[in-house]
Amino acid sequence: MGLDEDALEYHSTDPPGKIEIATTKPTNTQRDLSLAYSPGVAAPCERIATDVDQVFDYTAKGNLVGVVSDGSAVLGLGDIGPEASKPVMEGKGVLFKRFADIDVFDIEMDSDDTDAMIQAIAMMEPTFGGINLEDIAAPNCFEIERRLGDQLDIPVFHDDQHGTAIISGAALLNACEIADKELSELDVTFAGAGAAATATARFYVSLGVPRENITMCDVDGILTTERAEAGELNQYTREFASDVPEGELAEAMAGVDVFVGLSVGGIVDQEMVRSMAADPIIFAMANPTPEIGYEEAKNARDDTVIMATGRSDYPNQVNNVLGFPFIFRGALDVRATEINEEMKVAASEALAELARQDVPDAVVKAYGDQPLQFGPDYIIPKPLDPRVLFEVTPAVADAAMESGAARRSLDVETYVEALEA
Ligand code: NAP
Ligand code: MG
Repeated sequence: MGLDEDALEYHSTDPPGKIEIATTKPTNTQRDLSLAYSPGVAAPCERIATDVDQVFDYTAKGNLVGVVSDGSAVLGLGDIGPEASKPVMEGKGVLFKRFADIDVFDIEMDSDDTDAMIQAIAMMEPTFGGINLEDIAAPNCFEIERRLGDQLDIPVFHDDQHGTAIISGAALLNACEIADKELSELDVTFAGAGAAATATARFYVSLGVPRENITMCDVDGILTTERAEAGELNQYTREFASDVPEGELAEAMAGVDVFVGLSVGGIVDQEMVRSMAADPIIFAMANPTPEIGYEEAKNARDDTVIMATGRSDYPNQVNNVLGFPFIFRGALDVRATEINEEMKVAASEALAELARQDVPDAVVKAYGDQPLQFGPDYIIPKPLDPRVLFEVTPAVADAAMESGAARRSLDVETYVEALEA
């Protein structure tokens, strides 16, 4: 059977879908039930009514994330609507559970009205410890995330933007180490000016890339101040307009150290790769077809090309599952009010640091015994590496405490031991 048939069978085997609710307390006796529900349940209700923070002590809020979508930008499928997005949102729940033991309610909303979405999500704040916005199209996603971030006291994180930024940021830190390039001197060209590209560019600035060294292209070419002044760019892409003559992506790639593709497949050729600076770094992350293929990019020149894609069948897969489960785990465990820049940078640095360490045999085996050693073909950890939990999660929790986003403080050493147990 092919992948499609397998996937249809996987999803439709009774019970349909991929998730269910499980109880975490005994429910065997009449007494158990009168504790779980009326009349016993009144006691925790009263505690919470007098001190709302106790909701974390008596309910599942602190381990519950809302994965919220309007189905407007789903994977590579586009605007397929809320019902059709549900398998993806359930799947996100599966990953949260599998990698970080976080429970998810997937919420698919039938709305194309930003204000209504914001209002509806804000009203759900009491239920959740955090909100993962998912597959919501640009530019609506920016406003939804920003306004909810201002309003809510729980983290609101649009994974399509920041997940990609954080994981590829880790890859960038290590690629620079290997290619002996300084972040403060990098010239970076982006293909794509959407949700993932603008967030990634902003994050690279947080990591130390000078804003003025970034050139961004959309389908019409370089984002220039001239185009901004002509009203061609929105308030989010305007931020990346460069004071250069108008031009195509090929012109923007000449001489640069780094190419970041978050656009569409197949738009970069070998000639463009040859035009880049020595030992170029190429992150071609359009899914499912990258801007340029792994072999094509590698074979374009004789010096070292450090290449990452979104694909699992080549080295250096930029896979968001390396981020969101552990970032939320750390944030939830300190009852963070937000996932701020410090926490994102901490996640990125922890991932980069982990990739520099020796890889346990079990992980090497899980990936078909291919050698995994820090170098051009191994700049980010593998998703099934169990150490990601123990490295990224405490780094995020620690950064939350340091930056004032945590409502609860933990001893990091004890916390790591608890995670490992
Ligand atoms: P998006 O918001 O729709 O943005 C797509 C951007 O690509 C738009 O700015 C679009 O320009 C631009 N574009 C289209 N054709 C182009 C061309 N020929 N040359 C240059 N730019 C072009 O989508 P997104 O959510 O940011 O995702 C973008 C891509 O990144 C997708 O392929 C997605 O699968 C991939 N992605 C990968 C990962 C990962 O590997 N971990 C994570 C996130 C996203 P206009 O605005 O002018 O149309
Ligand atoms: Mg997504």
